[in-house]
Amino acid sequence: MFNKKTINDIDVKGKKVLVRVDFNVPLKDGVISDDTRVTAALPTINYLLSQDAAVILCSHLGRPKAGPDPKFSLQPVANHLQTLIPNKVHFVDDSVGEKVEKAAGDLKPGEVLVLENTRFYPEEEKNDPVYAKKLSDLADIYVNDAFGSAHRAHASTEGVTHYKPGVAGFLLEKEIKYLSGAIENPQRPFVAILGGAKISDKIGVIKNLLTKADKVLIGGGMANTFLKARGFQMGDSLVQDEALETANEILSSGSDKLVLPKDLVIADAFEDSAAKKTIEVGDVPEHWRALDIGEETVKEFSKIIKDAGTVVWNGPMGVFEMPNFAIGTFEVAKAVADSKAVSIIGGGDSVAAIQKSGLADKVTHISTGGGASLEMLEGIALPGVAALQDK
Ligand code: AMP
Repeated sequence: MFNKKTINDIDVKGKKVLVRVDFNVPLKDGVISDDTRVTAALPTINYLLSQDAAVILCSHLGRPKAGPDPKFSLQPVANHLQTLIPNKVHFVDDSVGEKVEKAAGDLKPGEVLVLENTRFYPEEEKNDPVYAKKLSDLADIYVNDAFGSAHRAHASTEGVTHYKPGVAGFLLEKEIKYLSGAIENPQRPFVAILGGAKISDKIGVIKNLLTKADKVLIGGGMANTFLKARGFQMGDSLVQDEALETANEILSSGSDKLVLPKDLVIADAFEDSAAKKTIEVGDVPEHWRALDIGEETVKEFSKIIKDAGTVVWNGPMGVFEMPNFAIGTFEVAKAVADSKAVSIIGGGDSVAAIQKSGLADKVTHISTGGGASLEMLEGIALPGVAALQDK
């Protein structure tokens, strides 16, 4: 469970509070296409403002390569935040230094200051102590509410806590409560659904889930490597030959829990307009590739999901970006939404699928952090959380 102090456990009244948020939103030409991460941070921001705190927000955005780059500026996110709350939102085009110290010093209770992208400094990802100290010096209190970045030991997520003991925000608390509750104390049967391109990214997750879950359903490109390990020819399907041995080990140790596709939708090219057909699991003909799970698999997965007590889903069941190969993913989304199970969805693609299907409000919890939620499913402690004060 969650044994870290939160903003409810300390006095924030009238204080200057530095909050690490996850404002890493999809941004194109200054327009935010999905503001879920901004709205998810509002409970913490609004609570602090209601306590007359002066709120300084810091975050990274994207992966700027070499210093400041206007493409990755947080200014549009600050502008957007201003449309969501009545309190004054200021923006400063740096995250440390004199200009920032002045803006933070001038900030009044009940106002917000958004700092520029922390990753404009390479010191952020290096967890540089000097940069971390400068950030921490801006405020009286440090709060981490950035679940999506909590698996990184960076200056703004971990380094800061060496200078200013930190507490959790409401989003971080909620994410961890749901995920750790599902993993450590699930209502059974506990069903995990894993998909996506590569099994190498999720080997640790599969291994850990096989010790916790009752069933692990595998779809997407990941399934191809397992099927090849079982001896089938996979044609031009995406297969990770270097992971075949591991796939074999997992198959022999977890075969009673692992559920692989029984049929596949195959295509004669990697494009939406390709010829397609459904085959029972077996050899994929030469020059064809598996791009989705088949109807029988959807039926079997849906039945298991329907009878589940807890469902955790990460990764699409096929190349869902192409409508002709998105059916498996959307059918699984529907099964998760229809199930009475406690349902938790993480990972950008599965979250996008559930949102596109209009069924997001039927899911118990949609995680804002793909990588962080995967590390939790793998059983790894998140450094940004470990660094916070214990209750
Ligand atoms: P990941 O980032 O590992 O969750 O993988 C997501 C990607 O996996 C999506 O872009 C899907 O298009 C891709 N994917 C899912 N199934 C397949 C498949 N059968 N063949 C190739 N790519 C796939």
